[in-house]
Amino acid sequence: MASSPVLSPARVVARVQSCKSIPVNYVGRFAPSPSGPLHAGSLATALASWLDARAQGGRWLLRIEDVDTPRTVPGADRVIMGQLEALGLAWDGEVIWQSHRNEVYQAAFDALAAHGLIYGCGCTRREIADSALRGQTAPGADGERAYPGTCRHGLPPGREARAWRVRVPDGVEHFTDRWLGPQEQDVAQAVGDFALRRADGLWAYQLAVVVDDAAQGVTDVVRGADLLSSTARQRVLGRLLGLPPLRYMHVPLILDAASGLKLSKQNGAPAIDTGAPLQPLQAAWRALGFTPFPAEGVAPFLREATARWAERFPR
Ligand code: GLU
Repeated sequence: MASSPVLSPARVVARVQSCKSIPVNYVGRFAPSPSGPLHAGSLATALASWLDARAQGGRWLLRIEDVDTPRTVPGADRVIMGQLEALGLAWDGEVIWQSHRNEVYQAAFDALAAHGLIYGCGCTRREIADSALRGQTAPGADGERAYPGTCRHGLPPGREARAWRVRVPDGVEHFTDRWLGPQEQDVAQAVGDFALRRADGLWAYQLAVVVDDAAQGVTDVVRGADLLSSTARQRVLGRLLGLPPLRYMHVPLILDAASGLKLSKQNGAPAIDTGAPLQPLQAAWRALGFTPFPAEGVAPFLREATARWAERFPR
């Protein structure tokens, strides 16, 4: 972020809090997709990840996940950064933008390809859906059917590669989520070989997130439960790339009271109003299932919430 000679109150709070102990073994991050401003759902995730980092005396990084350029709204990154600052959720170090990181993703992709772990796939979405209808695949994660492996042993004659997929090894992936407990997924069965480079030429989220978490030295991912079904995939990919495993915590999603759907920019969740920043922070705290408490301002709220978080999730 741009350096300013005068620290904003939010940054002073963060500076003091991060000096309480020397961060050694915790690096967290918030990784919003800039498809719109923060709303109640994304704020709850940001708050949970900030509190966990601060409670552990760790660093908290900000990464703008604009790899999916068609979904990126120009200027939304700056709006999100301004909202975080107004809410006292200051980040450490430089912000990174995925759209600037093509070479890093390409290098990871090439490393996998050099080991024969990537193949070109000529299937359209329609063809994959049709093979699912014919019962060739098990019901998959994310409501999508697993990729049936049609092009795994070579493109059918006359077909060109559209997307590039990673060969998923057999086996069940196990991990313990710090919020949800033990988890497992058979990625080959539930997802199949997944795309790292999409048919539109863009890098897939799964590749970018794994590469960037490693590049930024992230140790702990705290994010919304909608991404739980991606975690086993990301662990498999990390292992294929020789990267150290991360710890995960998936926090509950905030649902829209009327529709019961996940609050999202796509379904029109209103932007957080940072005019009175304590109110949305307290709402996010409650939405995460914690008992409300009175606070006189953002800094005292964040101090108390950090202490309570540390009690709930001891080191
Ligand atoms: N960019 C993703 C989102 O905004 C989050 C990715 C992650 O935390 O791994 O939903």
